[in-house]
Amino acid sequence: MAQPVLPLYRILYRSCQTLEVAQNLDFEVDQIIEKAMTRNRAVGLTGLLLVIRGHFIQALEGQVDEVRTTYARISRDPRHRDLHIITQGPTADRLFGDWSMCASSLAPSDKAILNVLNGKDDFKPRALTPTSALRLLTTVAEIRRRAVVETLAS
Ligand code: FAD
Repeated sequence: MAQPVLPLYRILYRSCQTLEVAQNLDFEVDQIIEKAMTRNRAVGLTGLLLVIRGHFIQALEGQVDEVRTTYARISRDPRHRDLHIITQGPTADRLFGDWSMCASSLAPSDKAILNVLNGKDDFKPRALTPTSALRLLTTVAEIRRRAVVETLAS
C-alpha cells in the first residue's frame, strides 16, 4: 500500500554566533555543515544556512516531525545563542529543494543580495521580517544555483 504523503513544514530562524565561533568562523561553519548535510539527507530535510555579520539565518524544510526534531537539537547547540524563530508553518513546496544544506557568506560583490538588503550597510538580522528573511534566503539560493550552472557550463 502506498505511504501517505506527509505535509511539508518550514522553519526560518536567526541566531547569534558565539565569540568562539566568530573567531574561527570558516572552520566552525565547515564542521556544522558537514554534520548537517549528512543528517539532513538522512531525514529528507532541505534548507539553507546563511552566515552573516555575526549571525546565522537558517531555513529548514521537510516533514514536520523531522523539522521540529532537528530544530530542537540545533537550539541546544552551544555554538550559537539567542535563537529566534522568524517564521514557521506548513508549506506547499520546498524552496530549497536543491540543498541538503549550503552555507553562504555575503560577499560585497553579491549585487543581487545587496539589492535585497536595499544596499544598506546597516543591515540588521534582528530586523528581518518573515517576508524579507525568506526573500534573502531564496535570493542567495538562486545566486548559488546560477553559479553552479555557470561552473558546470564552463
Ligand atoms: P553530537 O555531534 O553528538 O554532539 C553532542 C553535543 O555537542 C550537541 O549538543 C552538539 O550541539 C554539541 N557539539 C557538537 N559539535 C560541537 C562543536 N564543534 N563545538 C561545540 N559543541 C558541539 N544539525 C543538523 O542535523 N541539521 C542542520 O541543519 C543543522 N544546522 C545547524 C546550524 C547551526 C547554526 C548550528 C550551530 C548547528 C547546526 N546543526 C545542524 C548541528 C546540530 O546543532 C548538532 O550539533 C548536530 O545535529 C549533531 O547533533 P548530535 O546530537 O548528534 O550531537
